[in-house]
Amino acid sequence: MVSQIDIHKVFGGVVPEVAARKHVEFLYKLTQLAFEQSRIAPHQINAVAVSYGPGLIGSLLVGTSFAKGMSLSFNTPFIGVNHLIGHIYANFLDFPDLKPPFLTLLVSGGHTMLLLTKDYLEFEIIGQTRDDAAGEAFDKVARILGLGYPGGPIIEETAKNGKHIYDFPKPLLNEGYDFSFSGLKTSVLYFVNEHPEARIEDIAASFQEAITDTLVHKVTKYALENNIHDIVIAGGVASNSVLRTKLDKFKNKINIYYPRLIFCTDNAAMIARAAYEKYKRGLINSLDLDVSPNLGLSEI
Ligand code: ATP
Ligand code: FE
Repeated sequence: MVSQIDIHKVFGGVVPEVAARKHVEFLYKLTQLAFEQSRIAPHQINAVAVSYGPGLIGSLLVGTSFAKGMSLSFNTPFIGVNHLIGHIYANFLDFPDLKPPFLTLLVSGGHTMLLLTKDYLEFEIIGQTRDDAAGEAFDKVARILGLGYPGGPIIEETAKNGKHIYDFPKPLLNEGYDFSFSGLKTSVLYFVNEHPEARIEDIAASFQEAITDTLVHKVTKYALENNIHDIVIAGGVASNSVLRTKLDKFKNKINIYYPRLIFCTDNAAMIARAAYEKYKRGLINSLDLDVSPNLGLSEI
């Protein structure tokens, strides 16, 4: 595995230009390693898949150009995958018997959506964030607390030594299915400025409590009200153990699925699994496929 996290840590977040340059630098070596370790030869490959959006344009361009080159030189079909559908598909890697329809909570660094996965490649958005994504809120609060990047795992670790003793707001809690986390983040900022004596561990635990409560409340409420028996969690924030523990309390009423930790944050396996679904249906893309930084869920 190759990760850029240590590089971006220095800047406190992903620097788009640096990310794309590092992708150029490592993609070739990484692909070679993948062939070596999997003991799969290029002639055994059925198709080359790549995420073409949504995301940072530079990184998308590097990835798609490389994948198009591979597809040409191996003479195999080329498949563009929607990155968000990839996150949802991480669940099929671990639960091969899982079948749509199911309710999905997609909580990542750039997205927070409650959606219905109506069929394998058909989605309907029930609600989404009006401002910050859940992962973004973890990252920004970690920054406010001086904890570093990426915020989610550090907040989770720090909170283990703290207690939920502060009640931070849970915006839009009982107002429909949209989310809003920017106000929660700002209230943590004000609190930190006004209470320099407060322990960072307790603030982290209290923030984590507020955000996970909001997510769990909305997803379970929708499922119970609409008689839905399967909830699938996806995206980096799905790694959060407090979120998982709270959701698990509903397991007597609803089946709860989340991917293994390594498949929650960005990974190639989830893109390949989603591509397989397109491949089976003959949904191959032409090499003219352009990147789409703001790709929505209606585009597969
Ligand atoms: P998107 O998929 O929306 O384009 P992304 O690819 O940057 O965004 P992911 O890779 O799905 O996002 O997830 C990264 C996010 O998940 C980060 O914001 C990170 O803080 C958050 N995250 C990772 N682990 C945890 C955790 N244990 N608890 C909470 N958040 C977490
Ligand atoms: Fe992602």
